[in-house]
Amino acid sequence: NAPVLTIDGPSGSGKGTVSTLLARELGWHFLDSGALYRLTALCALSHGVSLDQESDVAVLAEHLDIRFDVERGSVFLEGDDVTRELRTEKTGAAASRVAAYPAVRHALLARQRAFRTAPGLVADGRDMGTVVFPDATLKIFLTASSEERARRRYEQLRDSGVGTSYDEVLSEVIARDERDSSRAASPLIPANDARLLDSTHLSVDEVIDAIRVDLQK
Ligand code: C5P
Repeated sequence: NAPVLTIDGPSGSGKGTVSTLLARELGWHFLDSGALYRLTALCALSHGVSLDQESDVAVLAEHLDIRFDVERGSVFLEGDDVTRELRTEKTGAAASRVAAYPAVRHALLARQRAFRTAPGLVADGRDMGTVVFPDATLKIFLTASSEERARRRYEQLRDSGVGTSYDEVLSEVIARDERDSSRAASPLIPANDARLLDSTHLSVDEVIDAIRVDLQK
């Protein structure tokens, strides 16, 4: 089995940035598992399938026709470039709804595990260390205070020209955390053997340095 580094945590903890950079540095594959939930949600919306219908959404998840263009950072759903749509708040909110369904999570399991090939995999998500890769080589659980995560998200949105307020972003961050950690199916909790890393006062480089040290142990 190829080595796997799992990086789980709430949105805004910096796990996306950190895992992308580490995968590049190690020359390993990269799994953005959140993208699979986002793609499932987009697929349901585009086919007019109600997000309330667990089994219908699970069938879509099972048969997702997707392609990742790693070089360009583009994502295709049924041949259409959905890179921009994938990152919107609307898609994120829909993703967190479909992610609460056990049948959807189950449908995506084999697809996620298939990313584990030589020379190794960096897997970014919520349940990478607890459910998808319980035998991972190293498990990181990255956190940061809600205020700091909202601040990062707010700056990102502002820089990309989206008009919103910090308070609005903070209340969305808190609502999403609440939904992700209180759901019955794979709630957001650290694996017993995960290393907890609080990035509130750390730069991206400092987080990567800390993980690199752990990887070499
Ligand atoms: O990480 P990202 O914001 O792209 O994830 C979107 C949503 O997908 C999250 O809010 C969460 O509900 C869900 N998700 C999940 N399990 C994962 C990755 C994402 O439930 N491994």
